[in-house]
This record gives sequence, C-alpha cells and structure tokens, in this order.
Amino acid sequence: MILKGFEALQSFLEKPKNIVVIGHRNPDGDAMGSTLALAQYLTKKGHTATVVVPNEYPQFLHWLPGSDNAYRFDWQNSQSQRAIKNSDLIFLLDFNALHRVGSDMQKKLEAYPNDLAMIDHHQQPDEVAYMYSDTEVCSTCQMVYQFIEMNNDLALIDADIATCLYTGIMTDTGSFRFRSTTSTTHRIIADLIDKGAQNDAIHNKVYDANSYNRLLLLGQALSNMQIMGEYNTAFITLTTEEKKRFDFQKGDTEGIVNYALSIKGIIFAAIFIEDAEQNLVKISFRSKGDFSVNQFSRNHFEGGGHDNAAGGKSEATMEETIAKFTALLPKYQQELGVSDEE
Ligand code: 5GP
Ligand code: MN
Repeated sequence: MILKGFEALQSFLEKPKNIVVIGHRNPDGDAMGSTLALAQYLTKKGHTATVVVPNEYPQFLHWLPGSDNAYRFDWQNSQSQRAIKNSDLIFLLDFNALHRVGSDMQKKLEAYPNDLAMIDHHQQPDEVAYMYSDTEVCSTCQMVYQFIEMNNDLALIDADIATCLYTGIMTDTGSFRFRSTTSTTHRIIADLIDKGAQNDAIHNKVYDANSYNRLLLLGQALSNMQIMGEYNTAFITLTTEEKKRFDFQKGDTEGIVNYALSIKGIIFAAIFIEDAEQNLVKISFRSKGDFSVNQFSRNHFEGGGHDNAAGGKSEATMEETIAKFTALLPKYQQELGVSDEE
C-alpha cells in the first residue's frame, strides 16, 4: 500500500476547491462508481466537483446517481476542457498511468499545472503528487470508501454515494466472488446497504439489462471459443463483422471472457475483439490462481492490470494475434500446468 501526501491533501482540502475527478478510458462500473461517489462526497464537503471521463460508458451504468453531470471528454470537449482549466486539483481514479485515458486527454493531464491525486488499485502506478494506491484492494470503490473513512466522514455517505460504491465493488469483484473479495469488502458492503444501497435493484439494473442482440452476440462468442486443453487455456474471438451483425453496443462484450474461465479446469482465458475504430485487436485476459495475466499482458500485448484480470492490445490482424498468442502458450506450460483451484 502506498499513501503519499495524505495529510497535505487533507489540509489542501480544508478550503473549498474546484476539483475534477477523472476515470479511465472505456469506463467500467468501478471507474464510474468511484468517480461519481467521490465527486458527490467532495460536493458535500463544500467543493465544486466535476466528473470527466474520456469517452462514453455502457448504457447499463447510465442510471447511476450523478451520472447526468459527468462529461465525456471526446464529445463534451469544451465543457470538459473548461472544467479542467478551472480546477485546482484533479483526482485520477481507477487507473495507474496517464496513457490509460487515451492520447488527447493524456496530453491535457501532462500539461496540467496543478497537482494530481490518485486513488487506484492497479499494479505499478505512475508517481503523482498525492497517492493512495493499494493493489490488494478489490476495487477503487472500496478505496474511495476507505478514503472517506480516513477523513472520518463515513456519516456523509448517503444512499446515492452508497449506490455508486456498491456498484463498483460488485462489478470489480464479479459479484463478490473473486479472490480480492475479503471480509472487509463484505463489511463495507453491509454498511453501504445500511446507508441505502438497494442490492437487488442494483444487480437488476446492471446484470438484467441485456438486449436480445447482446445475447445473440454472446452466443456467437461462445461458439467461437477454442480450448487449448494441454495449457488449461480457453480463448474467444469476435470480429468487427460479427459485432455489426448483432448490432454491437458499448458494454456488450463486458464479462464474456468469464465464460471461458468458467469451464472446469481452465485457469487462463482470453477474449480478442476487433476494434475497427482504433484499428486494433483489444484483448482481455483473466486467470485463476497464481498465473499473472498482468505480467503476461505487459510482456506480450502492451497492457497490464491485475494478477487475475488484465487488458492488452495488438496492432496485428486477428489471425496474426491469435497465432502469436497460441505460440506463446508452450513457454508458459509449467505455470499453466497445474491448477491450484482443483
Ligand atoms: P478489461 O479486460 O476488463 O478491459 O480490463 C481488466 C483490467 O485490466 C482492468 O482493471 C483494467 O483497468 C486493466 N486494463 C485493461 N486494459 C489495460 C491496458 O491496456 N493497460 C493496463 N495497464 N491496464 C489495463
Ligand atoms: Mn477497478
């Protein structure tokens, strides 16, 4: 755990400030939940807080409290730039390196004259002025709760803030099932329910918001799955043509990789998704046990993340990317050979 400049940050925040709160590109439940919750907490403390995210987030998160006031840097550019220009401090939430916001916004952050404060749970964080980094914690939302706790402000958590935090903890832990879910996580979740988070409603809004086409896309993904039994590995592909056929919407591929990991004996799973807009193949890696997909992605696919969940990319074609991936597996035969989940 790294806690840097916490007391200085506390004294900086004693007077009302203009603050921008930023999440990573392609924001997920944890990025949206944490940014919206922190902004609402800071507002309650007397600050002016604005959430700016690099680009659009999935429809199934649009209902989150405070979401109407979040700017997308790409299509609400002048409002976003104005908020950043007028700010005294920027919080960086749920990402560890400035490039994770995309190149346009990254340039803004690099030229930013004031201080940056990071709250994040990813490995190998960039150094900024104020830091609260803990790779052991399941989600940035849990860290925002703990940040509020460190400020002795738990009483300020209302039903809206609790709802945002619950959502991010739920999505980043696969509904409280991943290794990173601890008894502390469950205690925090219990408190968030006491403070007004409606667990059944949140689960319904996030997980039971499928379109028929999304399920058809899932069907396609599942039938594309390939199993490499000797490496306890399974992977899925989705092409641009397949995404178009099932009217792909942002967020539709979220979680699909977990189906590959749900096969008995599989400890390493990947999904390769063509992204015509960025002209690359976006990759999600997941693992069970000690095989670090953070390291695998860092070494071979320009990415990173956590030990058991990481992202990456490839500028080669889908065929070349799959060929590269399958050719790498023999190198990892030992690490992939025995599952400690059995
Ligand atoms: P996902 O596969 O869901 O996109 O991402 C899994 C985890 O890895 C998330 O915590 C995400 O923030 C992180 N991640 C995804 N893509 C990248 C990347 O390109 N670089 C790094 N450092 N982390 C990533
Ligand atoms: Mn997260």
